[in-house]
Amino acid sequence: MKIHLIRTEDFPKAQYHEVLQFLQGQVGILQFIEGPVVTLNPNYDYHIFEEDEFGKQEFAVRKHKGIHKGFIDDEKTSDSGVFFSYSPPSFPMRQRTYEWSHFFKTCKAYREFNDIPEQDLVFLLTNAMNKKNWFGSIDESMRNFFVHTADWPFFFKMLNKPIYPIAYEIVVWILRSMMFTHREEILDHVHDQPLGCINDFCVQKDQIILKMRTGDICLDCMDQIVKNDVPPPILRQIQNTLNDIRQHILFSRTKNVYLMDSPLLVSKQQKTLQFPDYSPTKARLNPKELSLYLLYLNHPEGIALNCVTDHQEELLNYYKDVSGQVDLQRMSTTVSLLSSYNEQELSVTLSRIRKKIKNAIGTEFSKKYLIDPLPNGTHGILISRERVRIADGDPNNGLENF
Ligand SMILES: [Zn+2]
Repeated sequence: MKIHLIRTEDFPKAQYHEVLQFLQGQVGILQFIEGPVVTLNPNYDYHIFEEDEFGKQEFAVRKHKGIHKGFIDDEKTSDSGVFFSYSPPSFPMRQRTYEWSHFFKTCKAYREFNDIPEQDLVFLLTNAMNKKNWFGSIDESMRNFFVHTADWPFFFKMLNKPIYPIAYEIVVWILRSMMFTHREEILDHVHDQPLGCINDFCVQKDQIILKMRTGDICLDCMDQIVKNDVPPPILRQIQNTLNDIRQHILFSRTKNVYLMDSPLLVSKQQKTLQFPDYSPTKARLNPKELSLYLLYLNHPEGIALNCVTDHQEELLNYYKDVSGQVDLQRMSTTVSLLSSYNEQELSVTLSRIRKKIKNAIGTEFSKKYLIDPLPNGTHGILISRERVRIADGDPNNGLENF
């Protein structure tokens, strides 16, 4: 089955080719064909978007609003290459908006001009805004589509390449065209409340992140797919593509959380952890917590919780250093208790450290700083040790470095 991807000039060529290559790289019988640049009929209205409205897909037909405020330029035609730089819109924003029928007419014109077989699918990829502000849609023939290609970074704050949401829309519309008989049937089956399924309607456009992260098809929709005899090889190709997109989306999130190379400053004197890239708030640890943290910092390979006791001597040295105590016997007892897997002390101390770090910089950014399970089965801290500075005094003043 052939799927032709045509585009308007405002959808940058480099991004178009990335989307095309990604889809062509998927194994299966859906064949994605490079199409030409097309021009829209210059028949549009202007619409002024407020931010709230910009973030929504409308179910009902939008009421016409008058033009009442200043505007920014209505077309962004930057062809900025593989890495996409995005300037978020400012509101109110005046935009050309097109009736869906104009997009579908463009698909039909392409078909006629190029003698495209009726069973082939044609997608128009365009930055042009559409009435109702949908991510994409389908015509009554169930063979012509449009997908909106602009403004994805507005909804995916961490995504600098919008090719995955665009590819997602394309394959999901292909599936919908096969799992439903009529266009109206699609609306009857969409989920008003987001389930993380391909057919979540997503009135709030940023809800689309959920379904792209799950890449899932719910049981009701799976029944519909079976009922309408969607060929299994096509379903498999689409599911594989959704999984692939999901991996990229997840990676683009985790990449930012885990790989961003931001430093950790440890002050033994102040007994603080500082995360200058994230927050001025410091995590203040007590001597036991700091000693345990220093032990784990010194073991990037990780230490299983039941093996902390093997490192008692090292732990005691840290504790001597930071506790300010002099009674060796007392310190040994504390450390022995702290390092014992069978005592509560170790898990309680770990969870206190966890809580203090999260309080300082929030859950999402704290992941690489926590003493948490590692892929090798031990516990450890993910942060690259090259970015850790440990000082006796204040690590910020540069006087005493470890
Ligand atoms: Zn569903």
